[in-house]
Amino acid sequence: MVTTAKTKGMLIGGKWVEKEDTINVYDPQDNSFITTVSKATEGDVRYAIETAEEGAKIAASMPVHERMSVINKAADHVDKNRNKFADTIASEGSKTITEAQAEVTRCIETLRISAEEARRINGETLAFDQIPGHEDRVGYYYKFPIGIIAAITPFNDPLNLVAHKVGPAIASGNAIIVKPATLTPLSAILLAEAFLAAGLPKKVLSVITGSGGEIGDTLISHPSVRMVSFTGGLETGEKIAKKAGLKKIHMELGSNSPVIVLNDADVNETVNSCVSGAFGAVGQNCLGVQRIFIEESIFDMFTQKFVHQTNCYKVGNKKDELTDMGPLITEKEAIRVEELVNGAIREGADLLTGGKREGAFYSPTVLTNVSSDAKIAKEEIFGPVVLLFSIKSIDEAIEKANNVNYGLQAGIFTKDVNLAFQAINQLNVGGIMINDSSDYRIDAMPFGGVKGSGIGREGIKYTIEEMTEPKVVNFKLG
Ligand code: NAP
Repeated sequence: MVTTAKTKGMLIGGKWVEKEDTINVYDPQDNSFITTVSKATEGDVRYAIETAEEGAKIAASMPVHERMSVINKAADHVDKNRNKFADTIASEGSKTITEAQAEVTRCIETLRISAEEARRINGETLAFDQIPGHEDRVGYYYKFPIGIIAAITPFNDPLNLVAHKVGPAIASGNAIIVKPATLTPLSAILLAEAFLAAGLPKKVLSVITGSGGEIGDTLISHPSVRMVSFTGGLETGEKIAKKAGLKKIHMELGSNSPVIVLNDADVNETVNSCVSGAFGAVGQNCLGVQRIFIEESIFDMFTQKFVHQTNCYKVGNKKDELTDMGPLITEKEAIRVEELVNGAIREGADLLTGGKREGAFYSPTVLTNVSSDAKIAKEEIFGPVVLLFSIKSIDEAIEKANNVNYGLQAGIFTKDVNLAFQAINQLNVGGIMINDSSDYRIDAMPFGGVKGSGIGREGIKYTIEEMTEPKVVNFKLG
């Protein structure tokens, strides 16, 4: 466990700045104190933006080979210190040590892909002579960095989701200011250390710690900040979008992902995939499985196997490699999930297993007989709760799956390619997995949602698209 009582500074303009005002960081498992981090003021945010104004010029003038080298060295640093990184994730967050190790591996991959994509930021020549009267024109466009990016990140992947913004920002020649979640700031600080150790020029990266509600507006609304890249909840995303004003906004928000299981699916494989998709990271996963629509002829068999598999899930000490599921991020969050489940039960839902809370721990929970219009089916639960629905046809499943204000990812299990294509064409989501649950992602694919699940796509190459702007060059020939 990370056990230093020394206050962690914030990285502003290449210097570690310590504040008297601090925020305590606790391990959600037993509420044990880990350390304190500095609490940024609005003045600190303005100072970070001022230094980033210079940082943006430095970043833009870094040759691509230097950007690649720095990012690769930061990846090497994370790799060499992977145990420290994993231990930090599993201490400040709610992931098990096994899940934390997997996140570190993904972070290294995210950084390596970012370095690689730096060499592929190309423009293209343009056919100006397609318009009569423009035959004497030739030209092309470059892609230029956008300038200063404000990155605001959530608690549930405290390292890799920061890497998903910092790696592409540096690869594309931008300066970036990261505001990590207050509950899990330590992984972002460690990543900043990795970039400093890698020789990233000062002022290109800042990491400020403090309450989003208190310092967020200053960061978001400052005119020098040209892009806000936000990952977090819908409600916060809407607030940020209103405050940001005229600048680029990138939003990776929540969901309540659907999975459709048709009667030709391999039930054992489907159950395995859906159980881990529902309860991984304690269900605090934007693409976690929340609603499963099962064809009625296999509903009972599926349900029985699903509940059996859920009951095999080992809940307990996060640091034990045999543990499948740790606590939620706070007891308050566990109480919120408990109330949501109890409300559904009061409205007639059947609790098939789970529904028990002990502090921040909430047992993996399976509900059925939930109305697809109930609050628990419409909202993002963001906890270890899954809803099973019996459906008569794929049409009914698709209609119900779409009948929410989210659309991040979905899954369908079937051997019938025509039905798979029906789902591909008709489900309103940013990604659909065939014969897998919604909980599938590699860091190089375009990732993001429609409706309340967000605006834009991450996935390094796609993030770089968002973080650059074309500049057209046109020659008028004599
Ligand atoms: P959150 O409460 O929305 O917080 C996310 C970040 O926003 C934190 O850094 C928070 O700071 C900051 N923030 C809060 N209020 C703010 C404001 N008024 N102005 C500026 N920043 C503000 O989300 P969370 O609980 O950490 O994360 C869970 C949510 O993230 C879920 O909805 C999940 O689905 C979503 N998520 C989406 C993706 C994706 O890629 N689509 C990935 C992961 C998570 P404080 O911590 O200081 O409050």
